[in-house]
Amino acid sequence: MGEGLAAVWRAVTGDGQFTPHGMCLLWDPALVWTMVASDLLIFLSYYSIPMALFIFLRRRQDLRFRGIFYLAGFFVLACGTTHLISVLTLWQPAYWIAAAAKLLTAAVSVATAVVAWPLLPKAVALPSPQHLQETRRALLEAREMAGKDPLTDLPNRRALPQVAAVLRRSPANRPVAVAMVDIDLFKSVNDTFGHGMGDALLRHVADVMRRCLGPSDTVVRFGGDEFVLVLPDADAEAGEAAVAALCRAVAVSPIWYEGQTVRLTASAGVAAGRAGGLDLEALIREADRACYRAKAAGRDRVMLAGAEDVSGWMAGGDASTPAPTPAGG
Ligand code: GH3
Ligand code: MG
Repeated sequence: MGEGLAAVWRAVTGDGQFTPHGMCLLWDPALVWTMVASDLLIFLSYYSIPMALFIFLRRRQDLRFRGIFYLAGFFVLACGTTHLISVLTLWQPAYWIAAAAKLLTAAVSVATAVVAWPLLPKAVALPSPQHLQETRRALLEAREMAGKDPLTDLPNRRALPQVAAVLRRSPANRPVAVAMVDIDLFKSVNDTFGHGMGDALLRHVADVMRRCLGPSDTVVRFGGDEFVLVLPDADAEAGEAAVAALCRAVAVSPIWYEGQTVRLTASAGVAAGRAGGLDLEALIREADRACYRAKAAGRDRVMLAGAEDVSGWMAGGDASTPAPTPAGG
């Protein structure tokens, strides 16, 4: 050990002022080894539990409230570290190291507690897996009953009142995001490439949406080149992120039809509400207004209702989105 390290070690062990903890146990072998075995077992378990938790979090990217799981994981790791140091202090009075580990544990545990309490009502509002399954089945029935748009095979807008009725039976606090997605400059596709290409594009956009959305999400062809999305369990931010991902998927997947390839973009508005007393029509109107602002701001972007003048996600659009163009391919 270098001279510097030796000095640090002397400082953390109190430079002879302190006695190792084993002295307090009068070095009774049974007591000391019971302490060692217990602390080591706790240490190993406390290190293995967060590892399992972190692997779980990595594999379940869909899980909500991830921050609290990470905090709880670090809290358990810190607790495990204090148990390991308890073994060390039986023989070495490294109480400054023990104190530092305790301080870290205190900080992480306070942070966990501070984050946990405000999350509680949101977590309680999350529907149970059984409830989710029932809602999914009811939403599926509602969509089937309403019939399909013959061009895109998506549910048509008649599904929306039934979807709203199903969601109103959910826990009142359950968030619901609604989006209006409108293809940019779609008329020019019809004018430039013909209605056959236009129809193929609508089917293609419908396919991208079906692929991007979850089983509880509903997308209907609202009319023309407009699509309405209803995303249960998504608040404004999650809804905006999901719709932005969807628009990005539309923007990066050119469509091939009769030897021609076209790339296009879409604009969207997102509004958010709660399942209790859900007024879907009002949310659609809000989302529509936000979509209108997205168009006015240059298209190829997502805007949140009520977030006037705040530009949302842009896939690379600028103040003047060019008309859908042949893609090089
Ligand atoms: P904006 O970016 O402002 O939305 O411009 P836009 O050209 O997309 O304008 P708008 O959304 O008003 O245009 C919708 C066009 O969609 C008008 C209509 O000709 C066309 N359309 C509507 N239904 C169909 C359809 O079933 N098939 C085809 N090919 N075109 C359709
Ligand atoms: Mg349009």
